[in-house]
Amino acid sequence: VKTNHKRSGEEKKKIMVPPYEGPKILFLDIETFPNLVNVWRLYEDNALNVERFSIVACFCAKWLNGNQVTKALPDYKTYKVDQFDDHELVNDIWALLDEADIVVAHNGDMFDFKKVNARFIFHDLKPPAPYRTVDTKKVAKNIFMFESNRLTSLGEYLGLGKKLDTGGFKLWQECMLGKKSAWTLMKEYNEQDVILLEKIYLRFLPWIKNHPNMAVYEDSDPKCPKCGSFRLQSRGYAVTNSARYNRVQCVSCGGWARFKVNQIPKHRRPIQNL
Ligand SMILES: [Zn+2]
Repeated sequence: VKTNHKRSGEEKKKIMVPPYEGPKILFLDIETFPNLVNVWRLYEDNALNVERFSIVACFCAKWLNGNQVTKALPDYKTYKVDQFDDHELVNDIWALLDEADIVVAHNGDMFDFKKVNARFIFHDLKPPAPYRTVDTKKVAKNIFMFESNRLTSLGEYLGLGKKLDTGGFKLWQECMLGKKSAWTLMKEYNEQDVILLEKIYLRFLPWIKNHPNMAVYEDSDPKCPKCGSFRLQSRGYAVTNSARYNRVQCVSCGGWARFKVNQIPKHRRPIQNL
Protein backbone atom coordinates (compact mmCIF):
# COMPACT_ATOMS: atom_id res chain seq x y z
CA VAL A 1 0.00 0.00 0.00
CA LYS A 2 1.35 3.37 -1.02
CA THR A 3 1.05 6.14 1.50
CA ASN A 4 1.01 9.84 0.74
CA HIS A 5 4.51 10.72 1.88
CA LYS A 6 6.06 7.90 -0.17
CA ARG A 7 4.53 9.03 -3.46
CA SER A 8 6.77 10.71 -6.00
CA GLY A 9 6.23 14.36 -6.88
CA GLU A 10 4.51 13.55 -10.16
CA GLU A 11 2.10 11.08 -8.59
CA LYS A 12 1.30 13.61 -5.89
CA LYS A 13 0.12 16.17 -8.43
CA LYS A 14 -2.47 13.78 -9.87
CA ILE A 15 -4.12 13.09 -6.55
CA MET A 16 -7.00 15.40 -5.78
CA VAL A 17 -7.30 15.83 -2.05
CA PRO A 18 -10.88 16.70 -1.12
CA PRO A 19 -11.26 19.80 1.05
CA TYR A 20 -11.27 18.74 4.66
CA GLU A 21 -14.20 19.95 6.71
CA GLY A 22 -12.69 19.60 10.16
CA PRO A 23 -12.81 16.73 12.62
CA LYS A 24 -15.99 14.76 13.09
CA ILE A 25 -17.06 14.90 16.71
CA LEU A 26 -19.42 12.23 18.02
CA PHE A 27 -21.28 12.09 21.34
CA LEU A 28 -21.95 8.58 22.59
CA ASP A 29 -23.82 6.93 25.42
CA ILE A 30 -24.58 3.24 25.80
CA GLU A 31 -26.93 1.31 28.06
CA THR A 32 -26.03 -2.22 29.01
CA PHE A 33 -27.70 -5.28 30.45
CA PRO A 34 -26.03 -6.79 33.53
CA ASN A 35 -24.37 -10.19 33.73
CA LEU A 36 -26.82 -12.93 34.62
CA VAL A 37 -25.14 -15.14 37.18
CA ASN A 38 -25.80 -17.61 39.98
CA VAL A 39 -24.50 -16.94 43.49
CA TRP A 40 -24.76 -18.87 46.79
CA ARG A 41 -24.99 -15.76 48.94
CA LEU A 42 -26.32 -12.26 48.27
CA TYR A 43 -23.32 -10.21 49.43
CA GLU A 44 -19.59 -10.35 48.76
CA ASP A 45 -19.78 -13.62 46.96
CA ASN A 46 -18.24 -14.80 43.70
CA ALA A 47 -20.52 -15.79 40.88
CA LEU A 48 -20.73 -19.56 40.47
CA ASN A 49 -21.28 -19.34 36.74
CA VAL A 50 -22.42 -16.88 34.10
CA GLU A 51 -25.71 -17.63 32.41
CA ARG A 52 -25.42 -14.64 30.15
CA PHE A 53 -22.68 -12.03 29.83
CA SER A 54 -23.38 -8.32 30.01
CA ILE A 55 -24.31 -6.93 26.59
CA VAL A 56 -25.02 -3.55 25.03
CA ALA A 57 -28.79 -3.05 25.01
CA CYS A 58 -29.18 0.42 23.60
CA PHE A 59 -27.07 3.32 22.35
CA CYS A 60 -27.48 6.91 21.31
CA ALA A 61 -24.93 8.72 19.17
CA LYS A 62 -25.08 12.29 17.93
CA TRP A 63 -22.75 14.28 15.70
CA LEU A 64 -21.79 17.72 17.00
CA ASN A 65 -24.53 20.11 15.84
CA GLY A 66 -25.85 17.31 13.69
CA ASN A 67 -27.83 14.11 13.29
CA GLN A 68 -28.54 11.69 16.02
CA VAL A 69 -29.30 7.98 16.04
CA THR A 70 -30.79 5.94 18.87
CA LYS A 71 -31.09 2.19 18.55
CA ALA A 72 -32.00 -0.64 20.87
CA LEU A 73 -31.94 -4.43 20.52
CA PRO A 74 -35.61 -4.70 19.34
CA ASP A 75 -34.71 -2.48 16.35
CA TYR A 76 -32.73 -5.35 14.82
CA LYS A 77 -33.90 -8.46 12.96
CA THR A 78 -31.89 -10.67 15.28
CA TYR A 79 -34.16 -9.72 18.20
CA LYS A 80 -36.82 -12.17 17.05
CA VAL A 81 -34.32 -15.02 17.05
CA ASP A 82 -32.39 -14.10 20.19
CA GLN A 83 -33.38 -11.02 22.19
CA PHE A 84 -29.95 -10.89 23.85
CA ASP A 85 -27.88 -10.87 20.66
CA ASP A 86 -26.14 -7.48 20.40
CA HIS A 87 -24.06 -8.29 17.30
CA GLU A 88 -25.92 -6.00 14.88
CA LEU A 89 -26.23 -3.19 17.40
CA VAL A 90 -22.53 -3.38 18.22
CA ASN A 91 -21.75 -3.31 14.49
CA ASP A 92 -23.60 0.00 14.22
CA ILE A 93 -21.61 1.49 17.11
CA TRP A 94 -18.41 0.24 15.47
CA ALA A 95 -19.27 2.01 12.19
CA LEU A 96 -19.95 5.29 14.00
CA LEU A 97 -16.68 5.15 15.95
CA ASP A 98 -14.86 4.20 12.76
CA GLU A 99 -16.14 7.40 11.14
CA ALA A 100 -15.47 9.71 14.10
CA ASP A 101 -12.28 11.67 14.76
CA ILE A 102 -13.18 12.64 18.31
CA VAL A 103 -15.70 10.88 20.56
CA VAL A 104 -17.16 12.47 23.67
CA ALA A 105 -18.70 10.35 26.44
CA HIS A 106 -19.38 10.83 30.14
CA ASN A 107 -17.08 8.38 31.95
CA GLY A 108 -16.32 7.02 28.47
CA ASP A 109 -12.64 6.30 29.15
CA MET A 110 -13.56 4.10 32.12
CA PHE A 111 -16.77 2.59 30.78
CA ASP A 112 -18.32 3.17 27.34
CA PHE A 113 -15.21 2.86 25.16
CA LYS A 114 -13.89 -0.16 27.05
CA LYS A 115 -17.27 -1.83 27.15
CA VAL A 116 -17.81 -1.49 23.42
CA ASN A 117 -14.23 -2.66 22.77
CA ALA A 118 -15.00 -5.82 24.75
CA ARG A 119 -18.11 -6.38 22.63
CA PHE A 120 -16.17 -5.64 19.42
CA ILE A 121 -13.55 -8.27 20.13
CA PHE A 122 -16.22 -10.69 21.41
CA HIS A 123 -17.85 -10.45 17.97
CA ASP A 124 -14.39 -10.75 16.38
CA LEU A 125 -14.42 -7.26 14.89
CA LYS A 126 -11.15 -5.49 14.10
CA PRO A 127 -10.47 -2.17 15.85
CA PRO A 128 -12.31 0.81 14.36
CA ALA A 129 -10.16 3.63 12.90
CA PRO A 130 -8.48 5.29 15.89
CA TYR A 131 -10.38 8.18 17.40
CA ARG A 132 -9.49 10.58 20.18
CA THR A 133 -11.68 10.78 23.25
CA VAL A 134 -13.00 13.47 25.57
CA ASP A 135 -14.36 12.23 28.89
CA THR A 136 -16.59 14.89 30.45
CA LYS A 137 -16.49 13.10 33.81
CA LYS A 138 -12.69 13.41 33.88
CA VAL A 139 -12.99 17.11 33.03
CA ALA A 140 -15.54 17.58 35.81
CA LYS A 141 -13.25 15.83 38.28
CA ASN A 142 -9.96 17.44 37.27
CA ILE A 143 -10.94 21.07 36.78
CA PHE A 144 -13.88 21.67 39.09
CA MET A 145 -15.13 20.64 42.50
CA PHE A 146 -18.78 19.89 41.89
CA GLU A 147 -20.86 18.25 44.60
CA SER A 148 -21.38 15.33 42.25
CA ASN A 149 -19.88 14.47 38.88
CA ARG A 150 -22.85 12.47 37.67
CA LEU A 151 -24.24 13.65 34.36
CA THR A 152 -27.62 14.55 35.81
CA SER A 153 -26.09 16.49 38.72
CA LEU A 154 -23.88 18.46 36.33
CA GLY A 155 -26.87 19.20 34.13
CA GLU A 156 -28.87 20.49 37.08
CA TYR A 157 -25.97 22.47 38.55
CA LEU A 158 -25.27 24.18 35.24
CA GLY A 159 -28.97 24.74 34.49
CA LEU A 160 -28.79 22.61 31.34
CA GLY A 161 -31.49 20.11 32.26
CA LYS A 162 -31.43 16.69 33.84
CA LYS A 163 -31.66 13.05 32.95
CA LEU A 164 -35.07 11.48 32.50
CA ASP A 165 -36.24 9.53 35.51
CA THR A 166 -35.98 5.84 34.65
CA GLY A 167 -37.54 4.60 37.86
CA GLY A 168 -34.39 2.56 38.46
CA PHE A 169 -33.51 -1.03 37.64
CA LYS A 170 -37.16 -1.97 37.03
CA LEU A 171 -36.88 -0.41 33.58
CA TRP A 172 -33.93 -2.68 32.70
CA GLN A 173 -35.85 -5.70 34.00
CA GLU A 174 -38.88 -4.81 31.90
CA CYS A 175 -36.69 -4.40 28.82
CA MET A 176 -35.14 -7.80 29.46
CA LEU A 177 -38.68 -9.18 29.63
CA GLY A 178 -39.34 -7.60 26.24
CA LYS A 179 -41.87 -4.99 27.32
CA LYS A 180 -42.34 -2.56 24.44
CA SER A 181 -43.13 0.56 26.48
CA ALA A 182 -40.01 -0.04 28.57
CA TRP A 183 -37.82 -0.11 25.47
CA THR A 184 -39.40 3.14 24.29
CA LEU A 185 -38.57 4.76 27.62
CA MET A 186 -35.05 3.30 27.58
CA LYS A 187 -34.40 4.94 24.20
CA GLU A 188 -35.83 8.27 25.34
CA TYR A 189 -33.67 8.09 28.45
CA ASN A 190 -30.60 7.27 26.39
CA GLU A 191 -31.34 10.10 23.96
CA GLN A 192 -31.81 12.67 26.71
CA ASP A 193 -28.42 11.68 28.15
CA VAL A 194 -26.70 12.45 24.88
CA ILE A 195 -28.50 15.77 24.43
CA LEU A 196 -27.37 16.71 27.93
CA LEU A 197 -23.87 15.42 27.23
CA GLU A 198 -23.47 17.70 24.20
CA LYS A 199 -24.64 20.74 26.21
CA ILE A 200 -22.27 19.98 29.07
CA TYR A 201 -19.39 19.40 26.65
CA LEU A 202 -19.96 22.79 24.99
CA ARG A 203 -20.11 24.52 28.38
CA PHE A 204 -16.91 22.74 29.49
CA LEU A 205 -15.08 23.30 26.20
CA PRO A 206 -13.08 26.47 26.98
CA TRP A 207 -11.99 24.86 30.26
CA ILE A 208 -10.84 21.54 28.84
CA LYS A 209 -7.07 21.10 29.04
CA ASN A 210 -5.48 18.89 26.39
CA HIS A 211 -8.59 18.91 24.24
CA PRO A 212 -7.75 17.23 20.90
CA ASN A 213 -6.25 20.04 18.87
CA MET A 214 -8.90 21.18 16.38
CA ALA A 215 -6.28 23.15 14.46
CA VAL A 216 -4.29 20.17 13.20
CA TYR A 217 -7.01 18.52 11.11
CA GLU A 218 -6.37 20.82 8.16
CA ASP A 219 -3.87 23.44 6.99
CA SER A 220 -5.36 26.82 7.68
CA ASP A 221 -4.91 30.19 9.30
CA PRO A 222 -4.54 30.07 13.07
CA LYS A 223 -7.54 28.42 14.66
CA CYS A 224 -8.76 27.89 18.20
CA PRO A 225 -7.38 24.48 19.24
CA LYS A 226 -10.51 23.78 21.30
CA CYS A 227 -13.39 24.76 19.01
CA GLY A 228 -11.75 25.43 15.65
CA SER A 229 -12.91 29.05 15.39
CA PHE A 230 -10.80 31.60 13.50
CA ARG A 231 -12.00 34.39 15.80
CA LEU A 232 -8.90 34.80 17.95
CA GLN A 233 -7.86 37.89 19.88
CA SER A 234 -4.31 38.65 20.94
CA ARG A 235 -4.10 38.61 24.77
CA GLY A 236 -0.55 39.15 25.99
CA TYR A 237 1.90 36.33 26.52
CA ALA A 238 2.01 32.79 27.79
CA VAL A 239 5.18 32.51 29.83
CA THR A 240 7.12 29.46 31.00
CA ASN A 241 10.52 29.28 32.76
CA SER A 242 12.33 29.32 29.45
CA ALA A 243 10.01 30.79 26.86
CA ARG A 244 7.51 33.50 26.03
CA TYR A 245 4.76 32.87 23.50
CA ASN A 246 2.08 35.07 21.98
CA ARG A 247 -1.18 34.26 23.72
CA VAL A 248 -4.70 34.47 22.27
CA GLN A 249 -8.24 34.06 23.48
CA CYS A 250 -10.96 32.57 21.31
CA VAL A 251 -13.92 34.91 20.87
CA SER A 252 -16.21 31.99 20.00
CA CYS A 253 -15.66 29.62 22.94
CA GLY A 254 -13.60 31.74 25.35
CA GLY A 255 -10.73 29.26 25.49
CA TRP A 256 -7.10 30.32 25.76
CA ALA A 257 -4.28 29.25 23.47
CA ARG A 258 -0.73 30.19 22.54
CA PHE A 259 1.37 30.16 19.44
CA LYS A 260 4.25 27.70 19.21
CA VAL A 261 7.14 30.05 18.47
CA ASN A 262 9.26 31.20 21.38
CA GLN A 263 9.39 35.00 21.13
CA ILE A 264 12.73 35.17 22.93
CA PRO A 265 15.47 35.06 20.27
CA LYS A 266 17.90 32.15 20.57
CA HIS A 267 20.91 34.19 21.69
CA ARG A 268 18.89 35.87 24.46
CA ARG A 269 17.25 32.81 26.00
CA PRO A 270 17.41 32.94 29.80
CA ILE A 271 19.66 30.76 31.90
CA GLN A 272 17.84 27.99 33.73
CA ASN A 273 17.47 27.00 37.37
CA LEU A 274 19.20 23.84 38.52
ZN1 LIG B 1 -12.62 28.42 20.63
